[in-house]
Amino acid sequence: MSPESVPNHWQSVRDHSRVFGRFTYVYPVVSRRSRGLSIGVNLNPDKACNFDCVYCEVDRKTPPATRELDLLKARAELCALVDGARAGELEKDPKFAEAGSLTRHVRDIAFSGDGEPTLVGNFAECVRMVAEVRRSRRLDDAKIVLITDAAGLDKASVKEGLALMDANNGEVWAKLDAGTEPYYRAINRTAVSFQRVLANLAATARERPIVIQTLFLKMHGEVMPPAELDAYCDRLRDITAAGGRIKEVHAYTIARPTPESWVTRLEPAELEHLAAHVRTRTGLVVSCFP
Ligand code: SF4
Repeated sequence: MSPESVPNHWQSVRDHSRVFGRFTYVYPVVSRRSRGLSIGVNLNPDKACNFDCVYCEVDRKTPPATRELDLLKARAELCALVDGARAGELEKDPKFAEAGSLTRHVRDIAFSGDGEPTLVGNFAECVRMVAEVRRSRRLDDAKIVLITDAAGLDKASVKEGLALMDANNGEVWAKLDAGTEPYYRAINRTAVSFQRVLANLAATARERPIVIQTLFLKMHGEVMPPAELDAYCDRLRDITAAGGRIKEVHAYTIARPTPESWVTRLEPAELEHLAAHVRTRTGLVVSCFP
């Protein structure tokens, strides 16, 4: 299924709220990058993140409903949401009506949500829980996806979790929004060094193919400068030159309101122009999600 099969004007695509029904830890979204129904598992109800991206959609002004990650409750919720979706319950929800029967097929279960999943101390346990639900519900073709800023990929519990993901149709979708430390600092606003992120990407990609996720945007009306774009391509090439495998690059832009008014989305042609340059310079598969 192509990304075009999941149009971005659908309400379920535009609204990626992490709050759904009575659930605390799980939420359904129809995702263009997942090419269908993705069930999010929010490991960060406390909204903790080690980045402060200029485009972050997480509402950190509203206090969290809970700070505790209760894995037993998360498991029960995940089972209920999977079972309900397969029985057609999501289709009856007005938000998901346009997506119709697409909502009956779980494409992936994704560690995502209101913060950075690798910050939790028991990441491997979280993966074990999801893998067990995936097995018990016979979701044989569903992926387990980790959506990450890559800063914690060198932690022991995370590495253990990644190995479990590898054995359960796992996939790492890791963020890389810049080619140089100054641009990285400007866009991701973090104390984590760029070098650590790059080393983590290379080490993780040496163990299994990864997907790179890059959000291209305009800051103060300026698209990523050509020298920065070339440096970004060079960082991708550094990963592959170090023996890393990049399955695909997801190039996307802002889809929903962001807290910073000086951050704006790219037009589809602008995004495609950048993506074409990345394809030419790196030889990688680059999928565009305008
Ligand atoms: S890494 Fe994700 S959750 Fe963290 S600030 Fe950036 S966009 Fe928000």
